[in-house]
Amino acid sequence: MASLPEVRVNRKGANRVASGHPWIFSSDVTDRNAASPGDSVRVVDPGGRLVGTAHYSSTSQITLRLLSPRAETADRAFLRARIEAATEHRRRVVTDTDAYRLVFSEADQLPGLIVDRYGDHLVIQTLTQGMDRLLPEITACLRELFSPKSILARNDAAVRSRENLPQHITVMEGEIPARVAIRMNGLQLWADLLGGQKTGVFLDQRENYLAARRWGRGRALDCFTCTGGFALHLAESCEGVEAIDSSASALAVAEENRKTNGIANVSFREANAFDVLAGHDSAGRRFDTIVLDPPAFAKSRGHLDAAVRAYKEINLRALRLLGPGGVLMSCSCSHHVGEAELLGIVAEAALDAKRQIRVLERRVQSLDHPILLTVPETLYLKCLVLQAL
Ligand code: SAH
Repeated sequence: MASLPEVRVNRKGANRVASGHPWIFSSDVTDRNAASPGDSVRVVDPGGRLVGTAHYSSTSQITLRLLSPRAETADRAFLRARIEAATEHRRRVVTDTDAYRLVFSEADQLPGLIVDRYGDHLVIQTLTQGMDRLLPEITACLRELFSPKSILARNDAAVRSRENLPQHITVMEGEIPARVAIRMNGLQLWADLLGGQKTGVFLDQRENYLAARRWGRGRALDCFTCTGGFALHLAESCEGVEAIDSSASALAVAEENRKTNGIANVSFREANAFDVLAGHDSAGRRFDTIVLDPPAFAKSRGHLDAAVRAYKEINLRALRLLGPGGVLMSCSCSHHVGEAELLGIVAEAALDAKRQIRVLERRVQSLDHPILLTVPETLYLKCLVLQAL
């Protein structure tokens, strides 16, 4: 391993890794030696002892992301073994869909790499300098393992700017259809791989859609519906579903999904969820089931106060709209707002709305987005199922 550049970290950095977290911050790096952007480097502690092999970033605050506690090269064989392990795990945890997250970054010991499967098509994101440099190798591995019809790099994610990486969408292999048909929980849904949010569809709510179908009843309201995931599942258990989103292009896909599945009791509408909730409130409308799945209001710690106010507002308004025994599914995908904070926000909203709330379920992201016990950032999606008594 003498050929790998050596990067030295202070005691705090080494301790962080010892406590189970794969990131070392820039302030804990004491000697970068000759490391270049995206190198695999040998990380050593102040005494020169091996901490592990990491990807080095020249610009991010997260300078090192541990790949392995051993000294080894992140070559094709290494990538292939990790992708195979990730695939094996999905065989155990994914059911009733051909669209799911195959590789989830740190949680699959491949920090910075996302691979989503949509039927015979794969979409990749390489979000760090290290993974970005390996894009050709990753593509080759995926070709070998899965022989997909296409591989698309959706490298238009904003976080890439922290790594000084350009935003681009590049076809790595094959041809990308305008829409890809996927199966999920008995529905056929359309995925827009080139233009959809994230890598096409929100895959992380797949199991929560089933919970919505189980708990849903009566008149339902799905705010922030995007391509209709919750609304179309609620259609089965509810009389009627009103679904809103501010994105016309997402709603166009939602409407196609509705037609494809022959669903007649869902109506999609382009509107601002805050206005709709306020409007229904002043009109005295009542619902039996409401889903709130807003975008990450807290993209960073600095936005936390405004985010808490926004979460409180929509939860308060939704609780006021619920009839007796009504069910609220309240989600947050901001990892700066943890489950305890979200529960606290809803509790305050419940006090203001003078409603007693029973917690029916405390849910998280689907199992194909695994959670590492010592890496809190991997638990990012909270989904509370609440009943207003
Ligand atoms: N529930 C969706 C995912 C929601 S993502 C699913 O399961 O697929 C958040 C969505 O909120 C995005 O589609 C975005 O277009 C929409 N959005 C953002 N701000 C909004 C607002 N003020 N009113 C309505 N929709 C909004």
